[in-house]
Amino acid sequence: MKVVFSFQKDNSSKPQRQNITFEAGLTSKIMQEIQQADVLEISSRLAKKGIPTDFKGNQVVAWCCDKTVGIFEQLNKEFGTKLALPKGIFVENFERLNINNPTIAGFCNPLRSSNLIKGSNIQVNGETLFFNTFEALKGKHSIHQHWLYDWTNIDSVADYNYSQGSVATDHFLDVFMHEFFHVAHEDRLLHKIGEGNLERNIDEAKTVVGIENYRRKYGLKISKICNHALSSPLEAIACDTSRTVASHLDEETLVLRQNPFIGTPYERLSLWKRINIPYYTDEQRPLTEILRNFWNGKFD
Ligand SMILES: [Zn+2]
Repeated sequence: MKVVFSFQKDNSSKPQRQNITFEAGLTSKIMQEIQQADVLEISSRLAKKGIPTDFKGNQVVAWCCDKTVGIFEQLNKEFGTKLALPKGIFVENFERLNINNPTIAGFCNPLRSSNLIKGSNIQVNGETLFFNTFEALKGKHSIHQHWLYDWTNIDSVADYNYSQGSVATDHFLDVFMHEFFHVAHEDRLLHKIGEGNLERNIDEAKTVVGIENYRRKYGLKISKICNHALSSPLEAIACDTSRTVASHLDEETLVLRQNPFIGTPYERLSLWKRINIPYYTDEQRPLTEILRNFWNGKFD
C-alpha cells in the first residue's frame, strides 16, 4: 500500500539533490500555482464532492490531490471508467501511526481499521489516503538527505526516485496518482470479490511466502515496471496505472489528451474480446495478461 520516496538507504551513497530540470513535469507555472494554492478552499471544494480532508496547510499535497481528483473525474466522465475516489485524504505525522515504516511519503488505508492511530481506537475508514508531514524525520537523517523529506522538492524527489528505479514514472504527480489508484483498485475488488476475500488476498500477498511466490512466478516481467512493483500485485497495479496515466497528461494543463487505457490491461473489453484471451500458463503469460488478472483480483 505504500510509496515510497525511496529513503531507506541511510547508510549507502548520499542522494545528491539534482538541479531542477522540470523533467518530472513540474513547470514554473505549476510551481507558481502551488505557491498560491488556497488549502482551505481546496478542502471545502473536495468536501462538497464527499471527500473529507485535513491537509494541515500543506499546499503541495492539497494542490496535487485536487489535480489528481480532476484527472480521475476526467477519466470517469470522458472515458467511462468507474474509478472510485478516496473516502478521505489526511496529512499526518507518520510517527503517530501504527505503520512499519514512518519514512514513507504516503499510503492507502484499504479497509476500515481501529488501530491505525497510536494510543487510540478511533475507527479510520477504508479507502482513505495518508500523506506524511515528514516533521519528525528531518532530525533523524544526515543533512544530505533532508531535501528528500520536503514536499516542496517534489520535482527533484520524483526525478531521484525514478533514477533509482523505485518508481515507474518520473512525473511529480505519481506519488499521488499511485495512492489514488490503490483506492480505485481496492474499491473495484471490494465489489468484485467482497470484503472478506479482499482482506485475505491483501494479507496473503504481504506474507513472506506470498511475496516469494509472486516474485518467482512473475518477478522477471513485473520488474520491467519498477522495483516497487515487485512488492505485491497491488503495488504492480498502482505503479503501472499511474505510469500509464502520467504518460498521457498534457504537460502544461495536466489534462488527459486521450483515453490512456486503450490497449492496456485496464481497458474494458467486450465479451467477445474477453473470451478470446488465450490460455497461458503462469510462465508463458505476458505482462499485459498478468496485470489484467491482478486488476480483476486474480493474484496467483
Ligand atoms: Zn503502493
